[in-house]
Amino acid sequence: MNDIQREIETATVAVRQAMLACQAVQAQLVPRDTLAKQDRSPVTVADFASQAVVCAALQEAFPDDPVVGEESAGALREDQQSVLRDAVVKHVSESMGRDVEASQVLAWIDRGGADESVNRKRQRHWTLDPIDGTKGFLRREQYAVALALIEDGQVVLGVLGCPNLEGGMILVAPRGQGVTTLDPQNENNTSSHPRKPSRSAAGTSPELPTPSSNPPRFCESVESAHSDQSATARIATKLNITTPPLRMDSQVKYAAVALGLAGIYLRMPTSATYREKIWDHAAGLAVVLESGGMVTDATGRPLDFTQGRTLAGNRGIIATGHGVAHGRVVQAVAAEL
Ligand code: AMP
Ligand code: MG
Repeated sequence: MNDIQREIETATVAVRQAMLACQAVQAQLVPRDTLAKQDRSPVTVADFASQAVVCAALQEAFPDDPVVGEESAGALREDQQSVLRDAVVKHVSESMGRDVEASQVLAWIDRGGADESVNRKRQRHWTLDPIDGTKGFLRREQYAVALALIEDGQVVLGVLGCPNLEGGMILVAPRGQGVTTLDPQNENNTSSHPRKPSRSAAGTSPELPTPSSNPPRFCESVESAHSDQSATARIATKLNITTPPLRMDSQVKYAAVALGLAGIYLRMPTSATYREKIWDHAAGLAVVLESGGMVTDATGRPLDFTQGRTLAGNRGIIATGHGVAHGRVVQAVAAEL
């Protein structure tokens, strides 16, 4: 019996439910529904509903596990947010298939607000980005529901729900067990997604495509505020990459690398002070590592998940797919830092 089978099952069901909640909101969404239009990180009904749904599932299965999530219910408690709050409660009720109280929904969302000391103390905990790539969600492009389990500072499970990637998929990556892709429409689907083979972490699977000698394509953020796109263009030139970058929001970029849709994911810092958030990278890291790829920060250092809510010891991200020479990319990036 797989020692984290219950975690895999719980997280997969939770992410699938959260994806459905996001899609239900999106079906009704018009841009003015966002809480704050000019806000740099628009917080939507779906964001809160997704966090509530995932935290409810984790609470039931693993009541002692803290969750370090992106959202807190603070804003939702304010009187002037009653319309937003009602919409969140409605969507959570619908996606859970039963009536739930507002107070219960707020409590679930707050469950995702665990103190960052659990991370620093290397306590077992989950990290959740209920909608990674809010801008992609609003644009109806790529976004992800990203859930990961961290034990003793190591990501031991990543579950990445990608509602708009190739018709929708969930990538499930338990450490040392490869990555499996599931069809989110099919509840009973516990096997590999038929369109893509799962790959072993050791990279020995006979289904693997042979690494090509052509320069790989790279992917990066749509948002130039999140990654320095002129720096990545210079790095690409240095690596003889002539294909334009695949620009996508969210951790779907990690999925693209894991699936071989892109060979490299580059995230180059745009500011000296920004620190990457753990929930923006934990699930994605697992998915790439388990596909036989490699993930470091822009300096080539491993990501350190023991520094609280941020990757305080790291700058930027380099992820490479199976068969891509990570060291060469790190070298090309070094000159830009
Ligand atoms: P992406 O979709 O890859 O551009 O990443 C979206 C994530 O970027 C959001 O979840 C934010 O947490 C994060 N973010 C916000 N500001 C910055 C920044 N200045 N640099 C890098 N990432 C950021
Ligand atoms: Mg995010």
